[in-house]
Amino acid sequence: MGCIESNVSAGFQPSASADAVLALVRESCRPLEPERVPLRDALGRVLREPVGAPEDQPPFDRSAVDGCAIRLDESSNQFRIVDEIRAGDWKPRQLRPGEAVRIATGGALPGDGLQVVMKEDVQAEGALIRLTRREAGRNIRFRGEDARAGQVLVENGTILQPGTLGLLASLGCARPLVTRLPRVLHAATGNEIVPPEQTPQRGQIRDSNSTLVRAFLKQWGVEPTQLRVPEDEAAAKSAIGNPPSTIDSADLLLLSGGASVGEHDFTRRLLEDLGFVVRVSKTTMRPGKPLIVAQRGHAMAFGLPGNPLAHFVCLNICVRAALDGFSGRPSEPSVQRGVLAADLDAGANVRETFWPARWQLRDGAAVLTPLRWSSSGDLTALASANALLRVARGAARLAQGSPVEFISTLPFP
Ligand code: AMP
Ligand code: MG
Repeated sequence: MGCIESNVSAGFQPSASADAVLALVRESCRPLEPERVPLRDALGRVLREPVGAPEDQPPFDRSAVDGCAIRLDESSNQFRIVDEIRAGDWKPRQLRPGEAVRIATGGALPGDGLQVVMKEDVQAEGALIRLTRREAGRNIRFRGEDARAGQVLVENGTILQPGTLGLLASLGCARPLVTRLPRVLHAATGNEIVPPEQTPQRGQIRDSNSTLVRAFLKQWGVEPTQLRVPEDEAAAKSAIGNPPSTIDSADLLLLSGGASVGEHDFTRRLLEDLGFVVRVSKTTMRPGKPLIVAQRGHAMAFGLPGNPLAHFVCLNICVRAALDGFSGRPSEPSVQRGVLAADLDAGANVRETFWPARWQLRDGAAVLTPLRWSSSGDLTALASANALLRVARGAARLAQGSPVEFISTLPFP
């Protein structure tokens, strides 16, 4: 299993394209095993079993309104109230002609062959009631009208959204079988970085990547174990490998910084020392060139370039694909189409560029405002970026209104 850059069959490529990295990640990251979780932990998870209706839905005929139940064959306009049924009651009975039962919305009808007249269409007259209007509609939610017992209502592979979870609750599926979340270990390297709450000394900067990584993963419900490791290979190795259970049980290892070819960039060596096989050590992505992708068994590791914008791009393009693969999320077409809201000057665009942008819907179409950035070390574009414009290599200038491809950085497109 060599590096992908030396393996690309159609002519030698010095480094891997975004598509090649994505293909590798998709092929390598297979769905993790399923587990049962309570509904409150199941949002966004992928269902791994079909869920059917254990009984008819609704399970009994229920009133759709507040009113009075009367016989369908009733010809009179005046009725004697013989009972009251509230939601939750179960009071079967035969209604005789001239009899009515007061019933609340959701209340179980006392028998068959009935109609419910709305409260608004009924007037009290002493101990009796009189109908002021009689509709044709029966105002009943009939047993089984939404679904029949045994019918599959939520398919295997469904991403559990709030609505789906509500449905599962109603079906009594209180612990759905879903793909387990990946265990993620993230280590930020660099002697220059200090925690955000600390005032940096001269030469230091605040660590923004750890926060970015944590928040990014949280969108999928993933809570990583996070470390800051020294810029020293041996010390970093012992910090990451200690306790060994953390690294050994990790499905995904993310290393921020040190992925390039500088004197102190040790990510590649470190990964190899930890038993990973490096598949990609450089890409043609801009930003995101010094990206390392490595594998150990089913586990995947990314050596992410330290520059914050490159971090954002690599997380949203490559790490996202790994999360999708591990969860068994169907690979949706992630590239969307829109038009540019302003001119874009991509400069000397010798590599495929993922340009930070803000997308919004205008008159039903996606409109993209490119954000200003001059280097992958920039941070300010991250204030509002929710998309990455995919600008082909060589496409230097794009006029306002040009059709563009983009990738939304929102967790669910
Ligand atoms: P590296 O990939 O380690 O060569 O770092 C590239 C650039 O990213 C350098 O300017 C680093 O200072 C910066 N950088 C590295 N790690 C972080 C971090 N955690 N937060 C913010 N910037 C970082
Ligand atoms: Mg560094």
